[in-house]
Amino acid sequence: MHFQLAGRLQGVGLRPFVYRIARAADLAGWVKNTAQGVEIEVQGTEERICRFEAQLVGELPDLAQIRHLEKSEVPLEVRPNSRGENGSFQIILSGSCGAPIAEILPDIATCNPCLEDVFNSENRRYRYPFTSCTNCGPRYSILNQLPYDRENTTMGPFKMCGQCLTEYCNPLDRRFHSQTNCCAECGPVLELKDERGRVLESKDSALKGAIRAIRRGATLAVQGIGGFHLFCDATNDLSVKRLRQVKGRESKPFAILVRDLEQARGLCQVSECEERLLCGKGAPIVLLRRSPKPRIELSPSVAPGLIHLGILLPYSPIHSLILGELDHPVVATSANVSDDPICYDQTEALIRLKGMADFFLVHNRRIASRVDDSVVREIAGTEVVFRAGRGYAPYVIHFSNAQGETPNHPKHAILALGGHQKNTIAVGHSGEARRIVLMPHIGNLESPLATEAYQDSILNTQRLFDLGVIPGLKARVKEAMEEVSLRPVISVSDLHPNYRSTQLGQARDPSLLQIQHHEAHILSCIAEHQIRGEVLGVAWDGSGYGRDGSIWGGEFFRATERGAFRIGSLRQFQLVGGAAAIKEPRRSALGLLYEIFGERTHQPGPEGRGLPRLDEEAHGLGFEERELRNLLQALKQNVNSPLTSSMGRVFDAAAALTGIRVFSEYEGQAALELESAVSPDANFQAYPVQIKPSLKGEVSLYSLREETLARVDWEPWVVGMLTDRTQGLPPAQIAAKFHRTLVEVIVTMARRFGIFQVVLSGGCFQNRILGEWAVKALREDGFSPFWNQRVPPNDGGISVGQVMGGWDVLISSG
Ligand SMILES: [Zn+2]
Ligand SMILES: [Zn+2]
Repeated sequence: MHFQLAGRLQGVGLRPFVYRIARAADLAGWVKNTAQGVEIEVQGTEERICRFEAQLVGELPDLAQIRHLEKSEVPLEVRPNSRGENGSFQIILSGSCGAPIAEILPDIATCNPCLEDVFNSENRRYRYPFTSCTNCGPRYSILNQLPYDRENTTMGPFKMCGQCLTEYCNPLDRRFHSQTNCCAECGPVLELKDERGRVLESKDSALKGAIRAIRRGATLAVQGIGGFHLFCDATNDLSVKRLRQVKGRESKPFAILVRDLEQARGLCQVSECEERLLCGKGAPIVLLRRSPKPRIELSPSVAPGLIHLGILLPYSPIHSLILGELDHPVVATSANVSDDPICYDQTEALIRLKGMADFFLVHNRRIASRVDDSVVREIAGTEVVFRAGRGYAPYVIHFSNAQGETPNHPKHAILALGGHQKNTIAVGHSGEARRIVLMPHIGNLESPLATEAYQDSILNTQRLFDLGVIPGLKARVKEAMEEVSLRPVISVSDLHPNYRSTQLGQARDPSLLQIQHHEAHILSCIAEHQIRGEVLGVAWDGSGYGRDGSIWGGEFFRATERGAFRIGSLRQFQLVGGAAAIKEPRRSALGLLYEIFGERTHQPGPEGRGLPRLDEEAHGLGFEERELRNLLQALKQNVNSPLTSSMGRVFDAAAALTGIRVFSEYEGQAALELESAVSPDANFQAYPVQIKPSLKGEVSLYSLREETLARVDWEPWVVGMLTDRTQGLPPAQIAAKFHRTLVEVIVTMARRFGIFQVVLSGGCFQNRILGEWAVKALREDGFSPFWNQRVPPNDGGISVGQVMGGWDVLISSG
């Protein structure tokens, strides 16, 4: 019997598992990795083969997942070359490759048995920082090409010693066929270097030297799994302040690496779900609420003014060994200057991190692909991924065809180029089924270094997935690509003409497709949850280029897997100074005030109360007299004041109007603080929800044109917030009313359009209060809410939606 398996099968201990169950069932045959997955051939009695199959499917190793299983009878004589006919079962080396579509596993945090080895002084791997097994260790970050075999990884140069080889060959050992298997005798080693690159110590002394350096308050650059991190004592205010200074990072919070769950609880409140996330195989940074009475006192500079902390547990033995000897948590921030990509090459690190790190703890296992730490948060009892990096990406979505659809799969592979902020790329394949692979977070494409990292990622992805060259890629890339067999590929980008990703796509791919930003958000969630039928898509974020050229960001869609059609939007307002408004929430507030009051200085308020004068109100936003005059002038003459329907900017405005924040130091800060101000059990009335035009009678919604969109008006909220503030209502209560109002808006729109399934996507849904209240209210009203979980709700997810949009175009055009 021949089995062909597809799914998550390589690097997960599947072949050893198959070996064990085949031997136990006394079957002859073989198992091998192929570029498509795993092939198995077994010979024996029918009853034994049945037992084997039941075990194969029912008792898979933890990390493995079979998505597709095909079996066929193979008469013995047809396969004269198949091995193992003499009654034994074998693992054979990978066969020749077809198109590589096997799944690439993300890097996995150290498993408990490996940690026990590392901390057991009797064990031969005692204190060995590269200990791993088939259940844990690096995968994607060390992979040069598929299939996942040692010689295709950066473990290739390390030849196993006798003892390691024995483990590798012993089917009963946890390290049987573990491609990362090594020990202090034969594997990678650590070195401690000074800032000029001179080796100070090596092996265990390097580790001890590094720990001493942290204790003394120094900044240490540590080569981890997917790149370099900067470590310093998180309880030492001087060290943390210095790190802020050298990184050029004013107040954006630092992540904290803690020794264990207990230390995490000494800092933050940890729910059951959050505990699972912290201890999960991906070991992400989990956003947690600070404990009101922390047992450990962190430097106030770690996350100034925030009631949340990003916490992670050690994910490689290097980190476990360092934290094991310290009695305090450390700051663990990616080693880069603000928006640049994370450093992952040792030589590059010594140059780029000059002046930032005092010491470098490095090793000689090369990182093949850089991967940032993942960031997750619990929302509505589920995990929501804000950044898909180490342990979370590549992430594979299988999207089977809707029933009744003819299986005319697009012949092209799709390379989705993502957005501009929090960029990711994604690959779409269609063969037996459709498949989308979300690649790890790259970052904001602002700096030249980030753009270079972006191009490298594209090249790397094309090589891994055997995708054809995008015409015109730089020569070095082209040369590298010409060596491999090519598969036709179509690129998809955002609609925004000024995104670097769009420009790159346009310059290089004449057949480039473009998918609107918010449509992509909705499609990303439809893909992730394989939603069938119609949905109401709510796409709320900071900004995205709209089909009418204005800045969208508070949009409603009628959507299916085949595409999205805009049916509603937030009332537009002017954003004075354009992008400058992102750093100044008060500008968004001024835009709203100007839209309501214009130049009128007095406005009769609700119930006859006089509202404050516009200029007085605007002064509450901290403008100087002259500045305000100029801004009002700009608004009036429409100078650099583009129209927007952005919900993210309305959040900013609300933060400014409640007096919570008028300037932002990083994106999303104002909204996060507004959310933090709300007490989760607060139960306040919403401000009035007004939607224009009102629908009367039966209207065919598909005939609605842009100008008859349902417009959600924020004016009553702004007026309400001003009134509440004048009456002395505390900001926490105004913030709660504002959140409640937005939930009302979602439910009202769902009722209005009568669409049962509601998709919530876009950066605003990183807001836990908004997400949880909306999910609860929708369910109470009989709707079925969906939200992004493994695919980020922010711009890190739009590449997935771009693949969906691209497929639709290809199918429609035959
Ligand atoms: Zn392990
Ligand atoms: Zn060894």
